[in-house]
Amino acid sequence: MRGEEETLLVEGQVLSYSIRLCRICHEEEIEFGDGEGKEENSTSMESPCACSGSLKFAHRDCIQRWCDEKGNTICEICLQNFEPGYTIPKKFQLGDVAVTIRRQERM
Ligand SMILES: [Zn+2]
Ligand SMILES: [Zn+2]
Repeated sequence: MRGEEETLLVEGQVLSYSIRLCRICHEEEIEFGDGEGKEENSTSMESPCACSGSLKFAHRDCIQRWCDEKGNTICEICLQNFEPGYTIPKKFQLGDVAVTIRRQERM
């Protein structure tokens, strides 16, 4: 599993960094990986499903907004559930329950 990684040479020091591109709002963030054990959550982006490459990352807020609009938490590209902890808006959940009850009554 490789992201877009490049190596940058600054004053004799080799810095490796990776560019994360949000697939929803297309904002870029650069994360430096210098191996000094910095906090992993230096960006607000996640890779919430099995997509790879430039589709791998997105802001948590962007994914959640997308789930709100679609009414589910499944990625259309890899068909995996977004993880962890994305939620479906209440109106969609209530709709599902109502449909289930109606089906049971007819049977
Ligand atoms: Zn975004
Ligand atoms: Zn995906």
